[in-house]
Amino acid sequence: MVDRRHVASILWRLIAGSVAAAAAAGVAVAQGRQGGPGSPNHPGLSANVLSFAKTDAAVIAFTNARVIDGTGTPPREGQTVIIKGRNIAAIGDSAAISPPEGTTIVDLTGKTLIPGLVMVHEHLYYPTGPQVYGQLGQSFIRLYLAGGVTTMRTGGNVNGFMDLKLKRLIEEGQQPGPALDATAPYLNGPNTFLQMQALGSEEDARRHVDYWADAGATSFKAYMSITRAQLRAAIEAAHRRGLKITGHLCSVTYGEAAELGIDNLEHGFLAATDFVAAKKPDECPGQGQGMQTIAALDENGAPFKALVKKLVDRKVALTSTLTVFETFTPGRPLPPGLDVLVPQLKKQFEDNHARTAQNATSNYIKLLPKAMALERAFVRAGGLLIAGTDPTGGGGVVPGFSNQRQIELLVEAGFTPVEAIAIATRNGAAYLGREARIGTIAFGKQADLVVVNGDPSRSIADIRKIDTVFKQGLGFDPVKLIDSVRERVGLW
Ligand SMILES: [Zn+2]
Repeated sequence: MVDRRHVASILWRLIAGSVAAAAAAGVAVAQGRQGGPGSPNHPGLSANVLSFAKTDAAVIAFTNARVIDGTGTPPREGQTVIIKGRNIAAIGDSAAISPPEGTTIVDLTGKTLIPGLVMVHEHLYYPTGPQVYGQLGQSFIRLYLAGGVTTMRTGGNVNGFMDLKLKRLIEEGQQPGPALDATAPYLNGPNTFLQMQALGSEEDARRHVDYWADAGATSFKAYMSITRAQLRAAIEAAHRRGLKITGHLCSVTYGEAAELGIDNLEHGFLAATDFVAAKKPDECPGQGQGMQTIAALDENGAPFKALVKKLVDRKVALTSTLTVFETFTPGRPLPPGLDVLVPQLKKQFEDNHARTAQNATSNYIKLLPKAMALERAFVRAGGLLIAGTDPTGGGGVVPGFSNQRQIELLVEAGFTPVEAIAIATRNGAAYLGREARIGTIAFGKQADLVVVNGDPSRSIADIRKIDTVFKQGLGFDPVKLIDSVRERVGLW
């Protein structure tokens, strides 16, 4: 049992201090009623969670804000957004809305409000050594939140119960972090990963889904050597329980998976083996083989258009993970956020990056721009594109920082900044079936909002300048979150 009075007194001190911290960090916080002991505002949050808060005001009015609402429409200037408790209580022209007495006023002149990011190919693990993925859930959930991610799906796990437990601890207010759609361990056939099982039969696939769904998994991911029959069994088992299943495929083509009823495919079109001439059923010809055909694919040609039509007709969403592919591509800048890694991991990635830079014949030189063109074509044809970062590969995809980078890469792919933001907010929410509550800034929706210092609709690089991340109405300080894990990412 926790002594509630003791916790309350700690909270009160933290919250009193948070106003000064907010002022010091450049957010104008006018005098107003603050949350405190017994505050109905954010009940049930632990001292641990509140220690990362910048403001816990009961009612906050953001005035003179530029609002990019996540729908893809142009930004609206001079807006007031009032949040009360967990929800958005009002939104409209600042001239037309007068905040009620006692409201904490936050003047956002020159700043922008965007919805909290909803990203769907995230992980709580990272490549730390030979065939070893370090389980970094503790630091990653803070980094994701600091980067503006308020909801995320983990796209496969190699840790067993950690995704599931962290999901629950975050929901219970014990840990800071985005709301998690927690994925079960991968559904895969025989493989060389140390931390991954191998399904032997359809019955194995069904048992896996049922076991992990019972344990609290809310999402599933099929992997590169699953068979069609196993995938069919897994899809049926997941759908029976109202859960979705995605895939990073190879042995099964995108077209086959769509016909089997999969909900989502990962890595844009770069994992598609549909165009490999000698492809044998249920066998992965090697990811590189598939990628050769994709690099040569014509986005205006009939074969690609037929595949896109099949995915669109069957409502299969596609996840863009340009961030991880950028790390494989020569000539690209060092990714952001490396300074939070333990020095050995930072060095390890910088060495990788230097080696990649020397590889003048890398297929990725053609593949990265092709991946972008194919994703654009998918959206033009009416497909649902969603976004994630995939902190795997050879490292260098650092949670939070990379979520911002992914949005920049969508803009490089040819989407407008507001379209890219919509892909990373509303589209993710739509896929997760949570659009009624999250993903856009609108009256009555959950107060998941990011305050950006600048105007990402003009300069998408401003998306890196995150001032405060509001999740369910509580404003988190990205500086506190990041500082708490600096040079520790790799240990926990
Ligand atoms: Zn992944």
